[in-house]
Amino acid sequence: MKLRAGRRQFLQAIAAATVASGTACQDKVDPTLSSSGGASSSGGGAGGTGGSASGTAGQTTAAGNSGSGGSGQPRLTSPLGVALLGLGKYASERLAPALKLTKHCRLAGIVTGTPSKIPTWQSQYGIETKNVYSYDTMGALLDNPDIHVVYIVTPNHLHAQFAIAAARAKKHVWCEKPMAMTPEECRNMIDACTENGVKLCIGYRLQHEPNTQTVRGYAAAAPFGAPKQLDALCGFSGFGPNDKEVWRLKKIPGGGSLFDMGVYCINAARQALGEEPIRVSRARQWTERPDLFAEVDEWTEFELVFPSGAVASCRSSFGETMDSLNITCASGSYELEPFQGYTGVRGAASDGTQFDQIIENQQARQMDDDALAIIEGRDVLVPGQEGERDVRILLAIQQSAKTGQPVELA
Ligand code: NAD
Repeated sequence: MKLRAGRRQFLQAIAAATVASGTACQDKVDPTLSSSGGASSSGGGAGGTGGSASGTAGQTTAAGNSGSGGSGQPRLTSPLGVALLGLGKYASERLAPALKLTKHCRLAGIVTGTPSKIPTWQSQYGIETKNVYSYDTMGALLDNPDIHVVYIVTPNHLHAQFAIAAARAKKHVWCEKPMAMTPEECRNMIDACTENGVKLCIGYRLQHEPNTQTVRGYAAAAPFGAPKQLDALCGFSGFGPNDKEVWRLKKIPGGGSLFDMGVYCINAARQALGEEPIRVSRARQWTERPDLFAEVDEWTEFELVFPSGAVASCRSSFGETMDSLNITCASGSYELEPFQGYTGVRGAASDGTQFDQIIENQQARQMDDDALAIIEGRDVLVPGQEGERDVRILLAIQQSAKTGQPVELA
């Protein structure tokens, strides 16, 4: 394979970084923002253990590397090669370990703005130097048949630009929540993936979780009659004085508890009620520790009103650990607690039904589901349109909190 000059220089730089491992390096994207901070990430405890080891990289059965069996596209076989883009806390502590448990995809590459991270990732996961990219050289992924998927795990405001760059390199795109900062960004991501013949999956791991799926099924089955009231609480308390430069606390799009944790409440409410909200009301954003949360919401609360008349009352927080979903219906109720933790999602209904299925690892389940959908040329479980709906609601909540008025959702 011919290497472009920039790519050749980057590989030489990796070799140098490998020798001088540990050298600090500025992030190429936005040097004014801090990279991964010391604060705890969203979600609960440790992931599962065991599981099958992945085999060799996914093979194409025809020339090229991008497609999934559609017209003119090569068919891919399991396991697909995944490149993680953004090697922060979630990628390193959750996704990379989960990729050791997956059957249909494997960690084959990395894209990073911090060369000092490269040697550790290469040695820990056996990543070949030819599968290591910077944000500037990732266009060369186009020529790399080892990588089939790029998983975007950067701060929220960077998702769109990297997702579009990955799609243009003809790679399937997996993107973390919240999908992007505006509906327009979401639309551009969806269009880029469509135009380049690749799939787009949003990393809502809970939509792949079986107890969550049972609750979602109750929306249609209505075993306790029509849902009337949903309560969703989602937050964690993990920031301290040393975290002031962490992007989640900075006045940038996508900072604050609403975009980080409130999006789980929105997605759960829409899924559990099986309908789309028509109005945001009673939205309020505030901070109880102004020294720490001078620029973003430490807390957000809001209501979503649904066409059936059901109301979802939601609250997100960086100041309190909370993780519960309760649905009250005409003749009974059910709940999940925790509903968004990394492990142990479980619950019960008022008739004694237990939601107690256990899976080994949520992220491994999510990535295997998404990889199989690509391999089999099926629709993915959580497409870009799903992320876009939540982004519209996030912005409406911000607007409602600002004006003190309800906001109608078109
Ligand atoms: P993090 O700060 O730990 O990691 C972000 C990574 O992006 C770092 O490697 C950093 O170097 C890199 N980066 C690139 N450009 C940057 C810039 N301009 N400023 C700062 N960092 C930059 O964050 P995280 O907790 O890993 O979260 C990353 C994404 O994953 C977010 O979108 C978040 O919402 C999502 N996430 C999802 C879940 C989940 O359960 N689905 C859990 C945690 C985080």
